[in-house]
Amino acid sequence: MRPFPFSLPRKTTSDNSQLLYLHIPYCHRKCSYCAFYSLVTSDGREAYVDALCREIMARGDGRALRTIYFGGGTPSVLTIEEIARIIAAIKDSFDMTQVEEVTLESNPEDLTPDWVNALAQLRFFNRLSVGIQSFNDRDLRVINRRHDARQAAVAIENAAAAGFNNISVDLMMGLPGQSAADFADNLRRLGELSDLACIKHLSCYELTVEPDTILDRQLAMGRLQLPDEEVLVEEYNMLSGWCSANGFEQYEVSNYSKPGFRSRHNSRYWNRTPYIGVGAGAHSFDGSRRRWNVSDAELYSMSEQVPYEEELLTSEDSFNEYVMTALRTSEGLDKSILRTMLTGKDLRQVESLLGGFVDAGLLTETPGRFMPTAEGLLHADGMACKLFVVQR
Ligand code: SF4
Repeated sequence: MRPFPFSLPRKTTSDNSQLLYLHIPYCHRKCSYCAFYSLVTSDGREAYVDALCREIMARGDGRALRTIYFGGGTPSVLTIEEIARIIAAIKDSFDMTQVEEVTLESNPEDLTPDWVNALAQLRFFNRLSVGIQSFNDRDLRVINRRHDARQAAVAIENAAAAGFNNISVDLMMGLPGQSAADFADNLRRLGELSDLACIKHLSCYELTVEPDTILDRQLAMGRLQLPDEEVLVEEYNMLSGWCSANGFEQYEVSNYSKPGFRSRHNSRYWNRTPYIGVGAGAHSFDGSRRRWNVSDAELYSMSEQVPYEEELLTSEDSFNEYVMTALRTSEGLDKSILRTMLTGKDLRQVESLLGGFVDAGLLTETPGRFMPTAEGLLHADGMACKLFVVQR
């Protein structure tokens, strides 16, 4: 690992990234479960947008982009003018002729008719991801979200009316105090929205309690209680049933889509496609090196050249990352990639373990791939850990 800080070389051309990720680390308020670096203020945002545009122009080398993702944080806290400036920097710095998918993450309270119409008029984004998390007001208060259930539904209607017809909804399972009946009601409300035909994608994550979050402290003090394992299993089964009944296919442990509407950006991450990440704390990957910008928005904004750290991945790291992500997807492991990553005893050991997972009904084997079954997706992390190759 190289020492921190050092300067960003201008316009690197050593990789062929086709993905661009932009990190916007600002939020209206802190969700109780959130362990990400995010700032609950608009102070310094203008300088941050300036710095983001500088970094885009410094690293843009005219390569053709396929997917672009504005993530955070909450990118929808930005004004339309700020977004337009960022778009201008991207268009000046990259070839946009092959772009397939451009996503912006948003929170419901920001999707007012004025804002979302103005966003649509930029004619840049063709996919909107909306962090709803729950349609139950009690759940939303418990996790300190700023919107309520009514705003969540109105946000989707506003986005659809503005012309967004490829919307992804985020939901959460296992919220404190949530019963299986509450979750069933969430799915019912989602079903009503799906009638609008604009929701093409669903990300549904089980709540995880990260250390030092507000939620962690509330649980430690006994103020909240998480649902039992049986409730979670019931919720997961309901989710699978709802998705099958409504034409959403599971293509990753936590992601479901209508046919043809998988997230192209995330699917490429999982395929280990190189990517450029700009903004405070954003990660980049060029096929062999991973680098991450300083995750301090003020330092990021003040620096003429962005401070970052990086590490060269060993072949073991690359293999372990590949199995960890690929086994979480319905596409699974590509045998030809396995053979380029491993040889000799390691390859034989891994093939033997994979054969065992096939016998256990966790994977199916085709001439080119090992693909998780529905049961296998539930055990993806466990299988990956058993396959990890140890560094010598
Ligand atoms: S909106 Fe997202 S990034 Fe912001 S506090 Fe909530 S979970 Fe964290």
